[in-house]
Amino acid sequence: MRKQLIKTLESKGIKDKKVLSAIENIPRHWFLDSSFLEYAYEDKPFPIGSGQTISQPYTVARQTELLMVEKNMKVLEIGTGSGFQACVLGDMGAKVYTVERQKKLYLRTKAFLKNFPYRIKTFYDDGNKGLPAFAPFDRIIITAAAPEIPQNLIEQLKPGGILLLPLGFGDVQQMVRITKDAEGNLKTENFGNYRFVPMLKNRADD
Ligand code: SAH
Repeated sequence: MRKQLIKTLESKGIKDKKVLSAIENIPRHWFLDSSFLEYAYEDKPFPIGSGQTISQPYTVARQTELLMVEKNMKVLEIGTGSGFQACVLGDMGAKVYTVERQKKLYLRTKAFLKNFPYRIKTFYDDGNKGLPAFAPFDRIIITAAAPEIPQNLIEQLKPGGILLLPLGFGDVQQMVRITKDAEGNLKTENFGNYRFVPMLKNRADD
């Protein structure tokens, strides 16, 4: 089933072999309740509780491809959710710092991620702040729809760093890649429409 999913992703235009091999290495069915086993390798998003979703595999693959991650890079993820995206980054050799604002989800995913050998640190906080104590980062990926570009995150990018985010409010957002050059100038590229759950403010206790 996992091999078939990889074929589907290739047919939808994913070319980066490192991304495809990471998705092939990760048992996505571990991330879903066992009663939904047959859905685990379909190219569809899926509810994971607390009103949140594990993104569609194509979206994870495309975002990861656009992020251009290399081994040993420091990568900040906003929106831990199920932890699947963090595992993909971890499998590619990144040092992952991932932030989740919902306490229950944070606690559950933090415990679950112990099943994997990856370098992933989890944090319970509002990702709009970034993680100043661990900055700067080579890469920052937001996996919730941001109504505006969080300036804190731009500041926490290294020169040469990349921030990737679904930007916009409403049902549909634009996948935007912002690259900071050595002088600190920003270049913005747009990669089309996606649908994410909203990036909210502040931590949530439930
Ligand atoms: N990357 C996840 C998918 C995340 S869904 C995965 O691979 O499964 C988006 C997640 O972003 C949700 O869990 C939501 O609670 C979280 N989120 C929304 N706003 C946030 C914020 N300001 N800071 C941190 N996490 C946030």
